[in-house]
Formats: sequence, C-alpha cells, structure tokens
Amino acid sequence: MKTKVGIIGAGLTGLTTAYYLKKKGIDVQLFEKADRAGGVIESVQKDGFLYEKGPNSGVLGQPEVMALVEDLGDAVKLEIADASAKFRWVWKGDRWHALPSGLIGGVTTPLFKFSDKLRLLGEPFRKAGNNPNETLADLVLRRMGRSFLNYAVDPFVLGIYSGDPNQLIPRFALPKLYNLEQKYGSFIGGSIKKAKEPKSDRDKKATREIFAFQGGLGSLIGALINGIGKEHIQLNAKDIKVEKSSYGKYLVSYTNGKSQEFDKLVFTAGAYQLKEIFPFIAEELAEKVQAMQFAKVIHISLGFKKWEGIDLKAFGGLVPFIEKRDVLGVLFMSSIFKGRAPEGGALLSTFLGGIRRPEMVDISDDEVKKVVEREMKSMMGLTKWDPDLLVINRYQHAIPQYGIESEGKLKAIQEIEAQFPGLIIAGNVRDGIGMADRIKQGKTLADSIN
Ligand SMILES: Cc1cc2nc3c(=O)[nH]c(=O)nc-3n(C[C@H](O)[C@H](O)[C@H](O)COP(=O)(O)OP(=O)(O)OC[C@H]3O[C@@H](n4cnc5c(N)ncnc54)[C@H](O)[C@@H]3O)c2cc1C
Repeated sequence: MKTKVGIIGAGLTGLTTAYYLKKKGIDVQLFEKADRAGGVIESVQKDGFLYEKGPNSGVLGQPEVMALVEDLGDAVKLEIADASAKFRWVWKGDRWHALPSGLIGGVTTPLFKFSDKLRLLGEPFRKAGNNPNETLADLVLRRMGRSFLNYAVDPFVLGIYSGDPNQLIPRFALPKLYNLEQKYGSFIGGSIKKAKEPKSDRDKKATREIFAFQGGLGSLIGALINGIGKEHIQLNAKDIKVEKSSYGKYLVSYTNGKSQEFDKLVFTAGAYQLKEIFPFIAEELAEKVQAMQFAKVIHISLGFKKWEGIDLKAFGGLVPFIEKRDVLGVLFMSSIFKGRAPEGGALLSTFLGGIRRPEMVDISDDEVKKVVEREMKSMMGLTKWDPDLLVINRYQHAIPQYGIESEGKLKAIQEIEAQFPGLIIAGNVRDGIGMADRIKQGKTLADSIN
C-alpha cells in the first residue's frame, strides 16, 4: 500500500516538503487555512513597483536552496543581489555608519569604542565558554565588548530575528557562531580557519550570497505549487483538528466536518497552535513546545517614483535598540534587485515591533504612517514626504525566538514524535528561521519519509 502523507500548512516549509515527496512518487496532500499557498511569502506588482509582503530576500546559507533552484529548472529565475548588498549600515547618534568589513574600517569606525577595538586583538586568545545556555549578549560581552554587542551584534540579530541578544541562546539561535567558539576556540580565528577548509561541491552551493527571484519570491511559491499540482493543495481548510484513528493513522478534519486519513502527518503551521490542533498530545509536552516566543513585526513597503533622499548604495541600515528609535531598520530593495521600482525611483522596506517593542505592532495604521514618516524623513534625508506606495503588513507570529526554552522544546518534540510514530512536528519551531533553513528542512523531511 502506498504511504499517504498529509501536511498542515502550505508555506515554504510545507510546499518544499510536498514538492520533494511528490517527486519521490509519494501520495501527498497539503492543508492550508488561507485562500492561497505561500504563507508569509507573497510578492505584489503595483504601479511600477514589485514589493514583498513578508520576507524580501534570503541568504544562500544552505546548499539545498541552489539544489531546489536546479530541480525547478526554468520555472524560477534566481536573482543574486547587486554587489552593493555587501555594504550594511548601522545607525548611531544622528547618522548611518558603514559596518566595517576589513581591518582599516574596523580601526577607524566610530561605531565601536577604542578600548573594545584594542580588546578585540585578544579575542583569538580568550578561552571558550562552557555554559551551553549562555545568552548571545553574555557570549559577545565575554569575547568582544559592549560596543560590539550594541552596534554590531544587536543590529545583526534585529535583522535576522527581530530579537534580543539577552534572550537568544547561540547554541540554538546561531549555531554556526556558537560552533566557531566551541570548535575553533575563537570567532576571528575560527572564521579564518573555516574559510580555508576544503569544501565539497555540495557545500560550495552555500555561497552566503543574498538571493531573491525574478518576479519576486512569490515566483518560487508558484513554481512549487505547479510542481506539486494544485489538486494536492486544499485551500481554505479551516478549523483543522487531528485525531488518532485506527492502525496508528491520523485523521485530519476541517471545514464543516470534511476529513481525510493519513499514514504520516507533517505539521508546519506554527507551533503556537499545537494544543488546539492535536488534542491527543499531552498538555505538558505541548506547553513546552508552545513556550517558544514569537517576535511581532510590521513590514512597511515604501515606494517612491522619484527618489530624492540619500544615496542608497547598500543592502540597508539597521537600528540598534540602544538608539531608541521607532523603526528596526530599513532595506533598500531597489538598490540590490532589478525591477523593484521605476527608473530613478526607490523601493524601501522598513520594520516596526520586534521582541522588545511588541506594543508597536498594535498601533493603528494612521499611527504607523506617522511613525514611518517621522523616522524616514529624519533618517533618509527626505525633505518632503510623498511616497507613491505605502503598504502595511502585520505579523503577530513573525519570527520565532530560540531562547532558554529551546532545549526543553526540542526534547518535547522528540518525545511527541516517539509517542506518535508518523507524526512530524516541523516548521520554524526547529532547525532555523530563514528561508534557506525552511527549504533544507523540507528536503530533509521528504528524504526521511518512505
Ligand atoms: C516580515 C517577515 C520578514 C522575514 N524576512 C526574512 C528574510 O529577510 N530572510 C529570510 O530568510 N527569512 C525571512 N523571514 C522568515 C521566512 O519568511 C520564513 O522562515 C518562512 O517563509 C516560513 O515558512 P513556513 O512555511 O515555515 O511558515 P509560514 O510561511 O508561516 O507558513 C505556514 C502556513 O501555515 C498556514 N496555517 C497556519 N495555521 C494553520 C492552521 N491552523 N491550519 C492550516 N494552515 C495553517 C499559514 O496560513 C501558512 O500558509 C521573514 C518572515 C517575516 C514574517
């Protein structure tokens, strides 16, 4: 008998899993509560702008991204960001400063204190930490100093997690960074040694370049949907509940009593709903999984047909928490990807909220507009305020935070999966929060299911 696999959630994780299962010839059915697939990924063309409602771009941080692009063939056209994407800005005082990438920039930048710059010379010789639950902030303070924490690491984790270095645990949130210290004894020495290590052809595909797709990230979603087949995606599947049925199968019921039975079930729809959807999971285990917090975020796309602000030759700028401004950062999408704005114009993305300012996500649209106007005028050199496009998208569960609960959460997931063979708790609750991590997880899951 052919294995039947159900997948709850048709975001990037669910779609990638389904795409590869289908390729293996496995019978697969996705359930999606919304009236479209793609989850937080959605691209929109409007008035000469091409903007994203959710993520704007990804990092080729896992070889599975290129492998997926190759598998999809002509259905998608990968776009690698312009070389200016290597320039990142950080706000300090009353202006942007380039985040230094080399020695001279590192010595001259006003972002870091002189004493911390001197202290950095000793970083390769400092001994590795031995507290596996040390926070990112403590790790950076121990190895690098407070100004590096405030003006390099804090904006970096804002950009990835909309998070707080005092809450993120590097072992789970930034495993590559954590391993640099654990494996090589130092961030600086470890990065140099790692760069020199020979790479397999597969690993060479993880170039760490910034990517998107021609036509926007939504074109990846479209290609995955075509590869899976629309008939395998049940949209508008409301009020999903799962029960254990005969012979260890899973009965998925949805929308006015419809139901289907599966041998295996992959859950990718947001761990905060575990208790509600799976009443048979012990409450204490579900609670351990649901202990994970999410950063709330508002993503505002701003389009200008004629750009009259500062020169935008960079990926964008991030705003350290210590600067007490109301935006988390601003990305210059039209500088790094083609066709995002009319010639001479600009498309920017700015963000409000994050784990330390959750209240910002509940302010009204009018207040959002006022905040954005005030911040963009003062930070982007605009003397007048007349955007041709201003789109507000709110996310109550934007980015999961891998904090102190992570160990208990991952153990609980293992226990649930051991108690209920064939049930897989996946999605961004584990294995990373970026698009590349989601693609990798989808491929790995599909490989493991027979
Ligand atoms: C504002 C924002 C900016 C981001 N920026 C970046 C970035 O720059 N780079 C990067 O790599 N990543 C970024 N990310 C993260 C990246 O977008 C995600 O990792 C990825 O898209 C998540 O895919 P997913 O399938 O795991 O989850 P989702 O996209 O959330 O998909 C889950 C799906 O499940 C559905 N669902 C939910 N509940 C139910 C239910 N009860 N029943 C049925 N279906 C349900 C949802 O409707 C959704 O379609 C960003 C995310 C956000 C929100």
